[in-house]
Amino acid sequence: MARYTGPVCRLCRRERMKLYLKGAKCDTMKCPIERKPYPPGEHGRARQRQGSEYLMQLREKQKARRIYGLMEKQFRNLYVEANRQQGVTGENLLRMLEQRLDNVVFRAGWGASRAQARQLVRHGHVKVDGRRVTIPSFQVRRGQVVELGEKARAMIVVRHNLDTLDRQTPPWLETGEGGLSVTVRDLPQRAHIDVPVREQLIVELYSK
Ligand code: SF4
Repeated sequence: MARYTGPVCRLCRRERMKLYLKGAKCDTMKCPIERKPYPPGEHGRARQRQGSEYLMQLREKQKARRIYGLMEKQFRNLYVEANRQQGVTGENLLRMLEQRLDNVVFRAGWGASRAQARQLVRHGHVKVDGRRVTIPSFQVRRGQVVELGEKARAMIVVRHNLDTLDRQTPPWLETGEGGLSVTVRDLPQRAHIDVPVREQLIVELYSK
């Protein structure tokens, strides 16, 4: 599945907020949001802060899509699936985004960013219930155990992340083996998803 390969800091600047797409750099003064807190491009500074209802919905959708690193088609397909399920569509959508394997690797603190977590998955360093899974969009289910492969456990980047990232594992994940495996205790609830997204606006946008 395709992924965005352009400059990611522009995405944060476009949303006028830190989306934490780059790992360590995001918490330093090198973060461009600190120096240029306005949208990118020649007319970035001149852009209006408040826009139409449509613009607000669009920005909310783009923000969610960018945080989780999905392209439009993939995101839309997820919305269609969320809409088909019982319950609140917006919450279903966020829950399914959280259940992605690359997000679980990120939440476990093995990757400094979701992009790095995605790479760990793509390169075959992650196992689910003892079997190697290389699909970042794989949806984890209740009771499944996600763990790092043998090689990844000794990787400097993973050890560094485990030692330096002060990331709290959400309540729906239970860590084991000194942080080298996580068990999906439950499906994520909205209260446990700390992304700054108003999912109702995304639903309003897609249901037009
Ligand atoms: Fe966003 Fe991180 Fe780049 Fe700052 S450093 S603009 S938070 S991706």
